[in-house]
Order: sequence, then structure tokens, then C-alpha cells
Amino acid sequence: MIIDDRHYDVIIIGSGAGGGTLAGALSRQGHSVLMLERGGAMAMEDQNVADVDLFRKDRYHPKDERWFGPDGDPFAPQTTYALGGNTKIWGAVLERMREKDFTELPLQEGISPSWPITYDQLDPYYNAAEKLYRVHGFSGIDPTEPTRSTPFEHEPKPLIPFLEPLREALKRQGCQPYDLPISWSSSKEDPSGDSQLYGLDNADHSNLEIKTQSTVKRLHVNPLGNSVKGVEADVEGETWLFSGDLIVLAAGAINSPAILLRSNSTHHPLGLSNGSNQVGRNLMNLQLTSILQRATERNDGRYARSIGINDYYWGDKNVSFPLGHIQAAGGVLQDALFAESPPVLSLVTKMIPDFGLERLASRSVAWWAMTEVLPDTHNKVWLNNDQIRINYIHNNREAHDRLVYRWIDTLKAIEADPLTRVVSTAPTHPRGETPLSVVGYACGTCCMGTDPASSVVDETGKCHELDNLYIADTSVFPSCPSVGPGLTTIALALRLADTLCQRMS
Ligand SMILES: Cc1cc2nc3c(=O)[nH]c(=O)nc-3n(C[C@H](O)[C@H](O)[C@H](O)COP(=O)(O)OP(=O)(O)OC[C@H]3O[C@@H](n4cnc5c(N)ncnc54)[C@H](O)[C@@H]3O)c2cc1C
Repeated sequence: MIIDDRHYDVIIIGSGAGGGTLAGALSRQGHSVLMLERGGAMAMEDQNVADVDLFRKDRYHPKDERWFGPDGDPFAPQTTYALGGNTKIWGAVLERMREKDFTELPLQEGISPSWPITYDQLDPYYNAAEKLYRVHGFSGIDPTEPTRSTPFEHEPKPLIPFLEPLREALKRQGCQPYDLPISWSSSKEDPSGDSQLYGLDNADHSNLEIKTQSTVKRLHVNPLGNSVKGVEADVEGETWLFSGDLIVLAAGAINSPAILLRSNSTHHPLGLSNGSNQVGRNLMNLQLTSILQRATERNDGRYARSIGINDYYWGDKNVSFPLGHIQAAGGVLQDALFAESPPVLSLVTKMIPDFGLERLASRSVAWWAMTEVLPDTHNKVWLNNDQIRINYIHNNREAHDRLVYRWIDTLKAIEADPLTRVVSTAPTHPRGETPLSVVGYACGTCCMGTDPASSVVDETGKCHELDNLYIADTSVFPSCPSVGPGLTTIALALRLADTLCQRMS
């Protein structure tokens, strides 16, 4: 084992939305930071908008990585090991959770738990997160929009031409379509923002050391078992040991609990900080269904996400429980999530026979229906002979089905409207749910709470059982917002940066 002779103020494991943002913020405050990231820089041609090819879905799956499902069958997860993590392939839609999302919320199948922090406490960090990630948005249209103490600094980009009549058509059906808040860069080659750009590239590099191809295996504790003393990593095939005053896990909702479980010891027989036996449990993976509509004109299949609809977020005319969020998915040929769904596209052949798949995709308008799920201790990440196993059964399914059917009814109404010419009536609206391998929206596996018996970290992100170990990724989410976790992860990371700076001052 090689022992690194440097000692850092903070070691951060993982450079995605949480870790990348935190590294930038701490380095700018003058603290020495080591970033350990298991991937490397992602090639430009593999990044979000740059001519991504639907059929080369291996691009979104790390080579040689296999996880195992509930029945023990292996699968290749869709997750990105690279500088920037999953933000390198995300849709960059950065929404705030709604005020009520932080409170106990009755869903159709049970109560979605409250957070130990309120919307108002996070609002200043949402402001800072939107500023840092150059989120372009426009408020005042979405009926569920939370109150904001600062307006968006940037206006949304104009919609591509065929979406504007679609927006008008939705309004004629009584919907309130709004411009999704999106993080943009100023690069033509890679237009959407991510945590490499707005976290790491923005850092003070005299304080930040980034080690790529460095996979953290386990954390070692002191003889009392109350503090992390060493971070063991495989760096390009060699075992290294790193030390720092504060350690932050930000390896994502699957890998952070895996590292904790792997770090078991006499003081922590069930895994590090797992006295509550909650590490890895309560895995929540947003329910995502893609729904396709037939376009009358060809589009290039490569455009960004654009319009959101929250008219059914809290319910609809028939039910008073939350159904979820709808968003225009963007070009089918560019969205990494569609790379998992050629079976969905092949259904389009029923709608438009004799077309090649690529041509079908470019004759379609795609929508995502997104619905929250409830935490369930049986849905979990666990280790079997050091391999990652995932037990997962979606809940709150009926609410999601209602959202999907509600949306298909709306699409049919648009198509029947003689004023709408960009889409046409079709016998079917092909749809498909994302499979278990799509874990990009996963959260909840190291839940935040005030009671150490039922949670893993406190309201700041510090592990209950260790003085110097924190978590800064989606694992800490007590519930799973239908609008996506990205902005909240960034806001929590900025909040944690303040907490750590105060602690180190
Ligand atoms: C295709 C796709 C589209 C999405 N679109 C959106 C969207 O539009 N809006 C939204 O809000 N959310 C979106 N998401 C979800 C969003 O990307 C994630 O919620 C977010 O990136 C999670 O941030 P994180 O910090 O928890 O983890 P990640 O971003 O996954 O980062 C984890 C990092 O840890 C590294 N790592 C893992 N294990 C180790 C280890 N052992 N040692 C060292 N490093 C390690 C990884 O390489 C990675 O860099 C999307 C996800 C996908 C996959």
C-alpha cells in the first residue's frame, strides 16, 4: 500500500452534482481539497448533446461493471463514472423542490416523509445553485412554483420552432406549460452545464488536487471507531491510503452506501455508520415513463428538454394526491435515457410502419412522465461477496399510471384540435418505463434525519456515528421529488460547504 504523504483539509469521493460542487466551493474558500474520482475526463463526443447515438448505449454503461438484481441476475447499470458523474449525461433540468415536498405529504400509497430542513432554509442555497450553474428560467407560470427570494438571472432559451405551437395547443387544453429551468454553458460543442464545468473548472486549482481513475474501496477508522483516519483507493491498479481532517462521500446513491457497507470493522460490524441498519435501505428511483407522440414534420431528434407541465403535480380533477411532473423529453436521439428504450421506439412501428428506427425517432415528440416513490426499507442496495445487489420494487404505481393516462388523454385532445398541425392523431402512443438498470435518479440510501436510530446522517449531512464523515449526494434524500434531484443536490452541497467552512474556521 502506498501512503500519500500529504494531509488534506477535506477529501471528497466522487465529482458528480454533490461532490463536484462541494470541491469547487471549498477550494474557493481556501481549503485544501483532494478529489478522488473513479472515472476520467469524458470524451467530448460522448457528452450530452454532441452527436450522441441512440444505438450505442454502451456509452452510458461503465465497461466491466455489473450489478445484480433481486433474483441474482447481473445487469449493466446506466451510470457514468467520469469527472462530473451523471451530470455529464443529464438533461440539466434544475428544478427546486416545492415547499410541500419538504413536509409530510400524503401520496396515494402512504405518507412521503418530511425533511429535517425546510424549503426556506434551503432557499438561499437554491439561489446560489441557480447562479453557479447558470440556470435559465422564467417564473410566474407554473402553478406549483415555490416562492423565490431571487429571480432567475437568465431568460430561457427560445424553443425550437415546432414546440411553440405545441405549447399553444397545451394552453388551449387548459394546461400551464412553462419553460423548464435548465443549466446552460456557453460552449457550442457541449451546451449544457454540469458539475465538471461549474464545480471543478470553477475551483481554485491551487487548493484542489484531482485524482482520476481512483476508486475508493473502503474507509478506515481510528482505534475508538469514531473518526475516519484513512481513505483506501485503487489508483490505476495500485492501493493508496489518503488522509484528511474531514471526509465527504459523494459517490452517488448506489456507490456511497456500498463504500460504507464495505468499510465494516469491529466497531461497525454492519458497515460504517450503520448502527441504525439503514445504510443502503430506502432506495428510491423515480418512476419514469417515456410517451411518444407522432410528429407531422421531421425533426433532427437532437434538441434539449424544454417545456414542463405541473398541472397534475398535486392531483387532478378526480384525485387529491400527487401524480407527478411531465416534461418534454427533448430529442429522442440525444437523450441518454432513451438509449435504454429501443423497445419503446420499436413500438412506434405500429404507429408508422416501414420506417427505420432512426427515422421513427425523428418523427416523434417524446415526453417523460415522472412520479415520486415512497421510501421502503426492503428496497435496498446491499453487498453479496463484495458485489452490488439491488432489491427494488416500485411503489406508488397507480398514481404514476394515472399520470400517464391523464397525459395521453391530453395528447389525444391536442391531436384532435384542428388548430394543431405539428402532431397528428395516431392509433397508439407507445410508452415504456425505464428498467432497473436506469439508476441515474436514485436517492435515499443514507437518509437524512434527526434520529440516529432511523437515519444515517443528520440535517447537515454528517454521519451520526462519526465526527468527521459527511455525505453530499442524493443518498441523503428522505423523499424523492417528482421534479428531479439535481438542483437540490447542488444546493445541499453549497450548504454543506458553509457548514464545513465554519467548522474549519
Ligand atoms: C440520463 C440522465 C438524465 C438525468 N437528467 C436529470 C435532469 O435533467 N435533472 C435532474 O435534476 N437530474 C437528472 N438526472 C439525475 C442526476 O444526474 C443525478 O441525480 C445527480 O447527478 C446525482 O448527483 P450525485 O452527486 O448524487 O451523484 P453522481 O452525479 O452520480 O456522481 C457520483 C460520482 O461518484 C463517482 N464514484 C462512484 N463510486 C466511486 C468510488 N468508489 N470512488 C470514487 N468515485 C466514485 C462517480 O464516478 C461519479 O463521478 C439524470 C440522470 C441521468 C442518468
